[in-house]
Amino acid sequence: MNRPIRTPRALVDAGLAGPERLGELEAVAARYAIAISPAMAALIDRSDPDDPIARQFVPDVAELTVTPEERKDPIGDLTHSPVEGIVHRYPDRVLLKAVHVCPVYCRFCFRREMVGPQGPGTLTPEALDKALNYIGEHPEIWEVILTGGDPLVMSPRRLGEIMERLATIEHVKIVRFHTRVPVVEPERIDGDLIGALRASGKATYLAVHANHPRELTPAARAACTRLADAGIVLLGQSVLLRGVNDDPETLAALLRAMVETRIKPYYLHHPDLAPGTSHFRLGIDEGQKLVAGLRGRISGLCQPTYILDIPGGHGKAPIGANAIAPRGDGCFTVTDFRGVEHVYPPT
Ligand code: SF4
Repeated sequence: MNRPIRTPRALVDAGLAGPERLGELEAVAARYAIAISPAMAALIDRSDPDDPIARQFVPDVAELTVTPEERKDPIGDLTHSPVEGIVHRYPDRVLLKAVHVCPVYCRFCFRREMVGPQGPGTLTPEALDKALNYIGEHPEIWEVILTGGDPLVMSPRRLGEIMERLATIEHVKIVRFHTRVPVVEPERIDGDLIGALRASGKATYLAVHANHPRELTPAARAACTRLADAGIVLLGQSVLLRGVNDDPETLAALLRAMVETRIKPYYLHHPDLAPGTSHFRLGIDEGQKLVAGLRGRISGLCQPTYILDIPGGHGKAPIGANAIAPRGDGCFTVTDFRGVEHVYPPT
């Protein structure tokens, strides 16, 4: 099995769904793209009906249920896109979306209406030129974040060309990639790709998307080591997902596995209001409880920021429960990791 699984029939043939599910899988496939990389297909425990890896990648009929609060563009990319391929939401940084395809299609994806073969595809050379010109014409842009789609599906040659253009833009100091590739297709992380990632000569960060500790396989860890050894700073981003990582043991194991792999946990996203994803969403109160439970349980190095992308394109807000609250007398009540309250400053 060395090719991605892309169709309902291939899911059945790979033992990832029973033949009786073919009809429902076809209905989901007509709406949203399917892809499971060989590394992820191999990781799925077919004897476990609740396998957390399968839950992330194998389509489910629940995806056809759209709730009233869900929306096609949950984080408002389109309202902040001055030219094709650019999202300019915050003053000092832009997203550059050169591709809209991924090596896997996550069933909870916040851009599920935009990624996949039915999406807008790869930027044409002319559109990419315009997007890079936009970055060059805006001196306030300090950071360029390549996302998509997954930017690491581009060939090293194409990626290198984009990086060389960014190298010529003096005011851009930071290049950041958001990707699933080191985890789901670790074999792609070779010398050519690493050379392309570094070709801008700027400080280079790479946010690795992983949601369950089993995703950090020996091959994925080796790929991350190659990146880190090349001087690329690794950050972790995860989505809090019901049935995947919504318990303290799994979350702690995930965050520790990241730190062991030299990935600094950065964001733990509350799941966005993407269509057909309500079966993945938990309440913010549940998320806050889980995140509060990590304090003291695992090292400070392992702590991500629990974050909500405010629907409508209003940006991110940290939503972890506050450990400190004013008392009204000039002092504060601060809660330790055991849940015990203390007065600050001590009286
Ligand atoms: S890799 Fe990222 S962009 Fe692609 S489907 Fe998964 S979450 Fe969405």
